[in-house]
Amino acid sequence: MKTGVIIKSTGKYYDIKDDSDGSKVHGIIRGKFKLKGFKLTNPVAVGDQVHYEMEDDVAVIKSIQERKNYVIRQSPRKKHHLQIIASNIDQVVLIVTIIEPNLKPGFIDRFLLLTETYQIPVIIVFNKSDLYGPDEKNIFDTLKTIYEGIGYNVMLVSCFTGEGINALQQVVKEKISLISGQSGVGKSSIINQLKPQLDLRTKEISGYSGKGQHTTTFAEMFSLDEGGYIIDTPGIKTLGFNYLEVMDVAHNFREFFDVSKDCKFADCTHRNEPQCAVKKAIENGMISFLRYQNYLQIIDDIENQNYWERIKDY
Ligand code: GDP
Ligand code: ZN
Repeated sequence: MKTGVIIKSTGKYYDIKDDSDGSKVHGIIRGKFKLKGFKLTNPVAVGDQVHYEMEDDVAVIKSIQERKNYVIRQSPRKKHHLQIIASNIDQVVLIVTIIEPNLKPGFIDRFLLLTETYQIPVIIVFNKSDLYGPDEKNIFDTLKTIYEGIGYNVMLVSCFTGEGINALQQVVKEKISLISGQSGVGKSSIINQLKPQLDLRTKEISGYSGKGQHTTTFAEMFSLDEGGYIIDTPGIKTLGFNYLEVMDVAHNFREFFDVSKDCKFADCTHRNEPQCAVKKAIENGMISFLRYQNYLQIIDDIENQNYWERIKDY
């Protein structure tokens, strides 16, 4: 039996890089692979280590090795499916920008829910620094303080001036990095800086909506000349959480979880419960009010969505 790593996953076919000779083969799956009973749009994901056998010139994937970690999201197309973005990664580089397009309130906190289950390190990269005036710089400084305060790495870069690009190259060197972000933030431009041979197409932001166009449809892994791999992923529009419960969110806001052992109730949702350690920490300035607002919004969304789901069952 041969072994290899999935370097591209479309949900229909899979590209595999063979472990022994590095050759690239086209793979398919037969039968069913499931994850904790959830339906998956892509049972085999980029980063998966697989066993396969050649049948004619097609690689038939027989099994997936246990994943060290993975990043999963609600499928943007099929509401009750989950999509594994990638597996077996060392870190995530989340690309955002404060303007062009405007940073969506809560987006970073929503994204961090995807990586927290496995405590995957996240580097939050603010791109387009060349466009930041004093207001944007202030916002950046505030966000940097918040996110570094809870253990994330925050960087400021510009593809146009080159600011921070060398530092980013050092960060991705010899690591497997998943690169993600909303459409239009400059993900393709950054990847082109990290691996110029790829020459990914970048798209002008359409003046009307302020949103960039999709340039990537499927996740794909590339090797870097300096060592390491990057995984390019489709731009994210929205992140839904119909597969989570309120307590899942509470547990995955890391600084809330840290103090929540001092809440009076073990299942405290940190809203109106008495003697809530999270609310006390917000009053003391130990926990960011911005994070708290975003948390409330997410659990509200989840409860509303579950409400409508239940009504449908009547
Ligand atoms: P993607 O959708 O995230 O892959 O974004 P692209 O790389 O296609 O970039 C979207 C738009 O932002 C393009 O017009 C880029 O030229 C522009 N862009 C990318 N990086 C920067 C930057 O650092 N500064 C400025 N001002 N524009 C940038
Ligand atoms: Zn509480």
